[in-house]
Amino acid sequence: MKKASDFVDEKRLWQRHVDMARFGATSKGGVNRQALSREDIDARALLLKWGNELGLRGAMDDIGNMFLRQPGTDPSAAPVLSGSHLDSQKTGGRFDGVYGVLAALEAVQAVKQAGIETRRSLEIVNWTNEEGSRFEQGCMGSQVWADPGKLQKMLALKDSQGVMVAEALNEVRQCLPKLEPRPFAFPVHALIEAHIEQGPVLEMTGTTIGIVSGMHGSRRFSIEVQGEEAHAGTTPAAARKDALFAAIDIVNALRKIFHDPQDVVRFTVGRFEVSPDALAVVPGHVLFTIDFRHPEECVLTQLGDQVEGICRQWAGPCDVAVKETRRAACKTFEGFVPEAITRAAAELNIPHMPIHSGAGHDARYVLDRYPAAMLFVPCEKGISHKENENATPSDLTAGVRVLADALVALSA
Ligand SMILES: [Zn+2]
Repeated sequence: MKKASDFVDEKRLWQRHVDMARFGATSKGGVNRQALSREDIDARALLLKWGNELGLRGAMDDIGNMFLRQPGTDPSAAPVLSGSHLDSQKTGGRFDGVYGVLAALEAVQAVKQAGIETRRSLEIVNWTNEEGSRFEQGCMGSQVWADPGKLQKMLALKDSQGVMVAEALNEVRQCLPKLEPRPFAFPVHALIEAHIEQGPVLEMTGTTIGIVSGMHGSRRFSIEVQGEEAHAGTTPAAARKDALFAAIDIVNALRKIFHDPQDVVRFTVGRFEVSPDALAVVPGHVLFTIDFRHPEECVLTQLGDQVEGICRQWAGPCDVAVKETRRAACKTFEGFVPEAITRAAAELNIPHMPIHSGAGHDARYVLDRYPAAMLFVPCEKGISHKENENATPSDLTAGVRVLADALVALSA
């Protein structure tokens, strides 16, 4: 019997990456294709065009997640899903997210070309706003899909220009051909999300496929230090409420708490906004963020619960407000879906290994409802969320070959 993996076409897969990378292309070879932007709309339209050419049925739900369906022989059977996201960071690369969508498309095309009729439908999914770059709520589409109660809150979120998600979604709907509506959380037999690793492990170990065994949990905090603006020349130190100095003391204290000799904790202060940001004015206000991740829930709790106390302890004469903006639990991927990936890789003789994901992905939210797994392929030097993100056509193709056979097995 013909195998779907034999019909995966490296040139076609690569060319589609090149074509998608035009939308939001940056001068440094990366991509700025933030969620629900003009560039994202163009990318969605091209995906739909490719889907139409293959005879796939397009659908979109109320948060803009897109689905392209290749019907199975049993319409009552829950489908097998595969996909990721077309949106990128502001200074993103050409593979993060888009690979998972194009891998699913290539896999479905290969299944068709192999003449394989699956019992379950195969569906390609493009989740809305995975990156949380323009609208600051990562994995927005998959979160709402898995927990529709979050819809109204997400629709009301605004970007830095004051545009609401709901408004941006209207624009998307107007620009795309009319698509079938789709309910949230519809029954799914299994999901596989393919993705570049975004870390160096596969490359360092010479392994082509990573089968994700689990995902770090994470906590995020937003911290506001309120001091008092004052004249830089006339205000003595004792009379100052310098929000920047307080924030620096807090960050230094946090770094000590979060320091991990084993280097497993991932601790980042990614945003640091000083106001009024003027050369001769004592800073009156600082806003900064904390993002930290760890594979063990108890460590997340133990470290995260110290944040507020440390902030108060080191705020000096300033006031401090600590808000936890997000908590994501640690996840374990196990059972028949990762097993299907492992089997497909073994049958194709492609080097594979279990791997832990330090990054969050849409699959984690699907896993809250249905069986799910992730497949990683190497990226150059582990670089990601950067314009020079890179991956080789042969690794990307190997990932799709494994994906295609795994999808066939799951949909039989
Ligand atoms: Zn991604």
